[in-house]
Amino acid sequence: MANINDTCIGCGTCAAIDDQLFKVEGNPSKAKLIKQPEGPEEQKKYEEAKASCPVGAIE
Ligand code: SF4
Repeated sequence: MANINDTCIGCGTCAAIDDQLFKVEGNPSKAKLIKQPEGPEEQKKYEEAKASCPVGAIE
């Protein structure tokens, strides 16, 4: 199951890749999953965000 762990530094990269899946909010800012990725397009975006996260917080 898609998940974001506590190492997130709130950089915003994942939300920039897909703002339908990821939202960065709070202080200190952290990414949240808006929904689980469904279907090939969302899975592709999820994997792209996962590969782009600088701290490997997207599991
Ligand atoms: S790309 Fe990674 S570190 Fe940056 S906001 Fe998203 S989960 Fe957090």
